[in-house]
Amino acid sequence: MYDVRSMNADDFINDEEILATLEYAEQNKHNRELIEQILEKAKPKKTGRGVECAGLSHREASVLLACDIPEMTEKMYELAKEIKQAFYGNRIVMFAPLYLSNYCVNKCVYCPYHIQNKEIPRKKLSQEELRQEVIALQDLGHKRLAIESGEDPVNNPIEYILECINTIYSIKHKNGAIRRVNVNIAATTVENYRKLKEAGIGTYILFQETYHKESYEVLHPAGPKHNYAYHTEAMDRAMEGGIDDVGLGVLFGLDKYRYEFAGLLMHAEHLEAVHGVGPHTVSVPRLRGASDIDPNVFDNGIDDDTFAKIVACIRIAVPYTGMIISTRESEACREKVLELGVSQISGGSRTSVGGYAGYTPDERPHDTEQFDVSDQRSLDEVVKWLMDQGHIPSFCTACYREGRTGDRFMALCKVGQIQNCCHPNALMTLQEYLADYASPETRAVGEALIAREIQNVPDEKRRQRAIEYLDEIKNGGKRDFRF
Ligand code: SF4
Ligand code: SF4
Repeated sequence: MYDVRSMNADDFINDEEILATLEYAEQNKHNRELIEQILEKAKPKKTGRGVECAGLSHREASVLLACDIPEMTEKMYELAKEIKQAFYGNRIVMFAPLYLSNYCVNKCVYCPYHIQNKEIPRKKLSQEELRQEVIALQDLGHKRLAIESGEDPVNNPIEYILECINTIYSIKHKNGAIRRVNVNIAATTVENYRKLKEAGIGTYILFQETYHKESYEVLHPAGPKHNYAYHTEAMDRAMEGGIDDVGLGVLFGLDKYRYEFAGLLMHAEHLEAVHGVGPHTVSVPRLRGASDIDPNVFDNGIDDDTFAKIVACIRIAVPYTGMIISTRESEACREKVLELGVSQISGGSRTSVGGYAGYTPDERPHDTEQFDVSDQRSLDEVVKWLMDQGHIPSFCTACYREGRTGDRFMALCKVGQIQNCCHPNALMTLQEYLADYASPETRAVGEALIAREIQNVPDEKRRQRAIEYLDEIKNGGKRDFRF
């Protein structure tokens, strides 16, 4: 039976409730009055504490997603843009994936690292190789990483992951530093989550892949990941282990997108109801081709328009949750969804083990790639492109380092106060990037952008301090200022 507070996966991601939700959405998809009411409820509103958004329930949001009235879709897009602007402004946080190991004991049928793929070379970074990767990433300008590893208790035990996190944080090359390590590893125990927390991780990310239990079991025919409940309840264990920033995600293309969408929002509602804090981020990857994987065998692929609508509806339903998109998506697709709600993107990514060190920005090793990269531009190109589109690329990691995580982050975020920190932090970290890593062309565009955007810091005292800090970064060689 559906119970948002239950600790059993089958109850909080309840199949009957999802089917009833889809039925409700189908019946109401042309109900203009209801749709108008839902949109009105979700609008940002001024309160005594700032600007707040109510968000939407999975049922309400599912009605929006099902609605196919073009004029209503336009209204949804306008609202998604308004919410994005209210809470994220024009900032886009940058990150890069770092693959540690592609050894894996699971059999996920959509991933080339599955244990039966004998074509793909298996590789695990030594600590020295990891050092080289981190130096290469620092030399590109990255400050925030998402580490990725297959599940293999022998080759990639938790001790290996912890050692890697330590190594990553310890490397200070020139002016470089990795200031936040997010971790994307298999579902594990409360004890191991506690160890990850103690190692200083940022967000723990685990994609659900699909919320449809039967499909899940078919898509994960063997290995520890086959256990749907253990996987689905992982975020509860992570939170029990002290990790209060968790990242959800669905791999769109595996099952029906409306089912996944409802499941994703129910998962967010569950975390909020039980732990008092929803997901820190939601990722929206789509299935891609790779070694031994043909995406065409999955018949639930979604087109770019549907994908954009999903992004907009997530933005409206969970307004305070960061939304992440990777280089799986093309430049054109990324451009569209950035304005509709995406707040974090990767740039210059390598999705293979050991893909950064020793390669130029144009070279791309394919041997151990987890998926094809659509957006193959370098980080410098992505940064310039973002600025040309009116966005501010941000390398900020301030909240995590100031201890503003979990409900402390959400409390700030919910009243819009976070913008008093985010805007100057974005500009200061962009200034670091321009000073240390950017091409002359990107630097020129960035300097002009900073000069314009610094005027938009609302608080005068803070603006003055930020101007001084910017000068110290640019002319005094100092780094790592933050609010
Ligand atoms: Fe292993 Fe993850 Fe790939 Fe599954 S998706 S085969 S768990 S690396
Ligand atoms: Fe993110 Fe916090 Fe930095 Fe804002 S100040 S960009 S919320 S880390």
